Amino acid sequence: MSAIFSTNRLSALSEKVEAFLKTEVYPNEQRWLKKPFKEVEIELRGLREKAMETGGWNAYLPEADGGPGLSLTEVAQLGALMGGTPFGHFVFNCQAPDAGNIELLLKYGSPGIREEFLEPLLKGEIRSCFSMTEPGMAGSNPVRLATRAVRDGDHYVIKGHKWFTSSADGAAFAIVMAVTDPDAENPYRKASMIIVPCNNPGFNLVRNIPVMGHAGEGWHSHAEIRYDEARVPVSYRLGEEGAGFTMAQERLGPGRIHHCMRWIGICERAFDLMCRRAVSREVGDGEPLGNKQLVQSMIADSRAEIDAARLMVLHAAAKIQEQGQKAARHEISAIKFFVANILQKVVDRAIQVHGALGITDDSILSYYYREERGARIYDGPDEVHKTALARGILREYGLSL
Ligand SMILES: Cc1cc2nc3c(=O)[nH]c(=O)nc-3n(C[C@H](O)[C@H](O)[C@H](O)COP(=O)(O)OP(=O)(O)OC[C@H]3O[C@@H](n4cnc5c(N)ncnc54)[C@H](O)[C@@H]3O)c2cc1C
Repeated sequence: MSAIFSTNRLSALSEKVEAFLKTEVYPNEQRWLKKPFKEVEIELRGLREKAMETGGWNAYLPEADGGPGLSLTEVAQLGALMGGTPFGHFVFNCQAPDAGNIELLLKYGSPGIREEFLEPLLKGEIRSCFSMTEPGMAGSNPVRLATRAVRDGDHYVIKGHKWFTSSADGAAFAIVMAVTDPDAENPYRKASMIIVPCNNPGFNLVRNIPVMGHAGEGWHSHAEIRYDEARVPVSYRLGEEGAGFTMAQERLGPGRIHHCMRWIGICERAFDLMCRRAVSREVGDGEPLGNKQLVQSMIADSRAEIDAARLMVLHAAAKIQEQGQKAARHEISAIKFFVANILQKVVDRAIQVHGALGITDDSILSYYYREERGARIYDGPDEVHKTALARGILREYGLSL
């Protein structure tokens, strides 16, 4: 089905990426999932060097920036392949939040920022994080931020309390969203994005927040952080002062395509496991689980929903590509909540078909169930996207909102 959006160069690259994942990643996945990520990261270093040879390294970047120069629909499909394993994006340096941060630094970083932070990030030598959400403020209304960056000569002094800063543990720097002009008339001009190195004395990682019993570590974690008067040069700001939300907005469209296609990769993995289990588990003498119509129903629903989701995302990606992010805003909102919900349904059904095995850590399904519940919350909760979509449509029908 994805042949609709296929190209020769994508097929060639996909083949190499898939072969790499099959030989180097899938066989190690269970072992890696049971180890602390910092240990796994050491092992992955060597593998990442090999991954570079496939051509899939920094797969979302244009050729001028060292990537393969794929279109958004091509990158999306590669993202679904990589999404089949939790380590897929990481081995190719395509993982969140670094991929989004790289895009920001490429577009808004000064020559100094590019040299100090972007270059090592592109080579995969360091990791980064994005620090915006605060425990004391509703993240779904991002203009409400308490973290302040106050000018002191040619420095900013940053004070605030953040949480769910993914992958902060072991990162080299954070891009912090902080209020630089609390009195700005336009609330979208209040905040700026400022780089804070994680070895700054004012950067205090309080803890990796346990998520459903697992605090994780390293890249695979979400941190609570206190910025205790972190003092950084004004030259560490990205773009103009007050342009933080505009930059965040620009990053969102392609970012959602990446998230959604990774989720489709997870759906395909869960679907494959569900079907394998349906044909191999006997519920009676010579009678496989797949003979049961209720199981068949789960398989049929999942297949139809994953196909629909994939086509929706690729359509949104094509529209962004051809007409720009603004023209594709309805599609971008729709895929975010639609695919996140399909993801949860498919993983849940796959667990059901596996019985008790499905909820154990012997199966990747329990990992996905735990880790991906957040998909309906991060990058905007379902309700925010549904409201944005419905309001946008109703405005076109003349309703003033
Ligand atoms: C796994 C994960 C990773 C994350 N990584 C990062 C990161 O790297 N950096 C970062 O800065 N943040 C990160 N976040 C935070 C994320 O961006 C916020 O959780 C999200 O924006 C929602 O904010 P909140 O949690 O404060 O929920 P709230 O804003 O308090 O909303 C709570 C609930 O209220 C409902 N709601 C909210 N608004 C509306 C509305 N308009 N209409 C109807 N209902 C509504 C929704 O059901 C929502 O889930 C991450 C979150 C998760 C779960």
